Amino acid sequence: MGDSKEQRILRHAQQHAKPGDPRSVLEAIDAYCSQKEHAMIVGDQKGQVMDEVVRELSPSLVLELGAYCGYSAIRISRLLPPGGRLITMELNPDFAAITQQMVELAGLQDKVTILVGASQDLIPQLKKKYNVNTLDMVFLDHWKDRYLPDTMLLQECGLLHKGTVLLADNVIIPGTPEYLAYVRGSGSFECTHYSLRREVVDGLEKAVYQGPSGPAQP
Ligand code: SAH
Ligand code: MG
Repeated sequence: MGDSKEQRILRHAQQHAKPGDPRSVLEAIDAYCSQKEHAMIVGDQKGQVMDEVVRELSPSLVLELGAYCGYSAIRISRLLPPGGRLITMELNPDFAAITQQMVELAGLQDKVTILVGASQDLIPQLKKKYNVNTLDMVFLDHWKDRYLPDTMLLQECGLLHKGTVLLADNVIIPGTPEYLAYVRGSGSFECTHYSLRREVVDGLEKAVYQGPSGPAQP
């Protein structure tokens, strides 16, 4: 009664994971979402690609767009270097509350800040209100029609530096054609596509910011 799928995911994690052990929390969420109820988490297969990108970059400050139940927030923040921080933005206050509890279960609350609201409202506040200079990495995983406008907003707000990695989920399914065309065609990003097949073919796109004009085209 009054029980949501997201509450059931949290309860399952609380019952099966070891508090303070991020890996066990991820495993509990993966198990529940693959066996009981499908949910819009990035999952273990794409999660392993994310892990690789995060390990290689070792970012001090990461922005996530779309927290949902906190799965990818835990996935990213567990790999941050000492002092590293993840800011995640979540539109739905119920999901934000679930994420907070999930992050606490994993013992990562000191590394993760959850901002409740719409990315387009929160991004312009990052510098002044949240003391952000620039971001080392952005994980885009919110509503797909926001990928492109929010990327342009991040650039306009001066939040990217040369080498900032944008990692975007679901660029094939449901798909973000305008976003892909923009990062691949703008000359300001160097892009890599990671194609993955589970029930359907989806992919992650890595776009490394090269500065406002990018390298000269031959
Ligand atoms: N990254 C999560 C899954 C996110 S699902 C994981 O892999 O575990 C997408 C989430 O984006 C939803 O919770 C939705 O509420 C949120 N969302 C959608 N549009 C948003 C916006 N404009 N700003 C912030 N969050 C948004
Ligand atoms: Mg996704």
